Amino acid sequence: MRMKVSITLPTPPSRDYEITIDTLPKITIDGKAAIVTNPKVAGLHLHRLLAAVDAKELYIVTIPDGENYKTMEMIEFILDRLFDHRLDRKSTLIAFGGGVIGDMTGFAASIFQRGIDFIQVPTTLLSQVDASVGGKTGINNRFGKNLVGAFHQPRAVYIDTFWLKTLPEREFAAGVAEIVKMAVMFDADFFQWLESHDLHEEENLKEAIRRSVELKARVVNEDEKEKGIRAVLNYGHTFAHVIENFSGYGTYLHGEAVAAGMVMANALAIEYGLFSMEEAERVKSLLEKYGLPTEYAIEDPESFYDQFFLDKKSHDNKITFIVPKAIGVWKMLVNPEKTRIIKVLEAFKK
Ligand code: NAD
Ligand code: MG
Repeated sequence: MRMKVSITLPTPPSRDYEITIDTLPKITIDGKAAIVTNPKVAGLHLHRLLAAVDAKELYIVTIPDGENYKTMEMIEFILDRLFDHRLDRKSTLIAFGGGVIGDMTGFAASIFQRGIDFIQVPTTLLSQVDASVGGKTGINNRFGKNLVGAFHQPRAVYIDTFWLKTLPEREFAAGVAEIVKMAVMFDADFFQWLESHDLHEEENLKEAIRRSVELKARVVNEDEKEKGIRAVLNYGHTFAHVIENFSGYGTYLHGEAVAAGMVMANALAIEYGLFSMEEAERVKSLLEKYGLPTEYAIEDPESFYDQFFLDKKSHDNKITFIVPKAIGVWKMLVNPEKTRIIKVLEAFKK
């Protein structure tokens, strides 16, 4: 099955590119290239990638695994290796790993000699449906996650579900959470389809990836720099970021926090009379089918509430929540009243 999704961006210097959902094709690169990866992904799969890549010179840059290494120091490390190997402005980077590797490789590519090409070969479900699509790249620093970065679109994205055979179940489910997010926000048919298809079946998984990537590509085409509709992709995330902050990064996988966050956003939508309990229940059961958390015990609703305003997406102490009006229909809830948010949070209290 070969599927192509096109990204067509109006604003230079961005360019059109294709996202291929298929067995990894032969990748031919004219100049020098470097694969950026980590020891885990390399140990499992590098031989298969190497068999597919044809470049004038090919180097491998390995960085430690994990979100903790998504830092400026590691970007320096990557750049130093590129200079060691004398890569130049015509060279290409290949991101081989999950979203951490993708975001870092993209960022390194965006600044190496003022910007070179890069290719995404995402190896987690989350990076296949979300992180590899749309050109957001970056790193974390002590002030927070993804606060430093650039918009830098890849030259191509190659999505191959083969890699996912070695992915732990929890990581798989975390990717499913972002797929569910896309369906709840944009596509009721897709949501219904998800309710009746098991993504552990290869053909279903490919179909779900395709539909999800198509939806994300549509959003990015419309709003590359997140001035409007791209913010809808933050459904569940305003709550998720607080959950991640409170529990310490690493307790919950991002997708798991998003799952619980979507349940909370749904509760807020119900509080405002926007969303029905029946539909909220359908979202919850779909998430539970993949073992995703749909509960989170809030210790202190007041301090949970205060955390919303530390989010980089909160401006001038205003906060916008993305909520569903129905499955497949999003709405932006701008500055909901504190008392009503607290009431919703109280219901999640320990
Ligand atoms: P990750 O990159 O940390 O990967 C999760 C774990 O799975 C890692 O230990 C990784 O080494 C391992 N792994 C990768 N491929 C594997 C495979 N095939 N088999 C077994 N193990 C494998 O995490 P992630 O969930 O892929 O991505 C999360 C990151 O993506 C975050 O840093 C987040 O900020 C970023 N992100 C970016 C965007 C964007 O638009 N740029 C969107 C969503 C998320
Ligand atoms: Mg996310």
